[in-house]
Amino acid sequence: MTTLLEARKVTKVYGGGLFRRDRTVALEDFSLRIEPEPPSITAIVGESGSGKTTLARLLLGMTMPTAGAILYQGKDLRTLSRREWRAFRRDVQAIFQDPYEVYNPFYRIDHVLHTPLKKFGLVKSEREAQQRIVEALQAVGLRPEETLGRYPHQLSGGQRQRVMVARALLVRPRLIIADEPVSMVDASLRATILDSLRALTRDFGVSLIYITHDLITAYQISDNIIVLYRGSVAEAGHAEPVVQEPQHPYTRLLIGSIPLPDPDRAWSEEQEPSEIGRLADASTGCTFANRCPYAMEMCLERHPPLYQTERYRVTACYLYRESPLLASEHLDEAF
Ligand code: SF4
Repeated sequence: MTTLLEARKVTKVYGGGLFRRDRTVALEDFSLRIEPEPPSITAIVGESGSGKTTLARLLLGMTMPTAGAILYQGKDLRTLSRREWRAFRRDVQAIFQDPYEVYNPFYRIDHVLHTPLKKFGLVKSEREAQQRIVEALQAVGLRPEETLGRYPHQLSGGQRQRVMVARALLVRPRLIIADEPVSMVDASLRATILDSLRALTRDFGVSLIYITHDLITAYQISDNIIVLYRGSVAEAGHAEPVVQEPQHPYTRLLIGSIPLPDPDRAWSEEQEPSEIGRLADASTGCTFANRCPYAMEMCLERHPPLYQTERYRVTACYLYRESPLLASEHLDEAF
């Protein structure tokens, strides 16, 4: 079966091109494959500046890589015909962080939901359109009678974001890329929206790439987690072991910043960088060295490669240098 979407050794550089000093490497040598079956949820976790939003834009074809390629059904996005691009646009849907920006305040929700059905020619009659819209709203836990006919400002933030999930679902995509979909809604509504996203995979067979800074919500809904730090993969594997037994010092730091009921799980004593780490220049060695409590001399020389530390686990850290190396394009073998 042809891979649905693939990032193959993707690097994205902003400013000045590959050989200029003022360049910013937003993402480096990143690979990922999303297969059409079985549907899965992959979380991409990282703080601001980790490259996760750049990755979302690349996977959605909103920007092109500086090196490497994004492939849809085996074909580079840059070479898709109009027809193939249209199919890609339908198969791969986006949900963005800020639902307020997506809405035109002058259009009712009905218009928002009718537009993709018309754009992709997915219904033959108004009755069929209405039926699909009602089903999509119900699938995300919204009451059609309380949603349709209203303007965006008449809905709550959580309702607006769920309308976005319904909108993505309407075109029956195969993959949804959700970039921080719950970061702007109340904590009380987060669980409902996350449940809606999880249901997409379970009930509709849609895969999800969930992009977030929040390791806890990633853990709650995803099958696999990829932790990004400054544009590179720090650690990846099944969600449970990554969170329960983190390997990379950065993942440990992320978990250490979560208030846990068990005080023994605190990593606070390890959050200070080592003496060697204090000397680190992030432009040469490991990009995490200047924050790392375990930084060694070798960490200052070259950024670590990916080590396959377990059957379904990879970590880019010299603490695991006894493990076999894994080429970055085989990252998905961590799942
Ligand atoms: Fe820390 Fe070295 Fe591992 Fe980087 S490679 S995370 S500096 S121990």
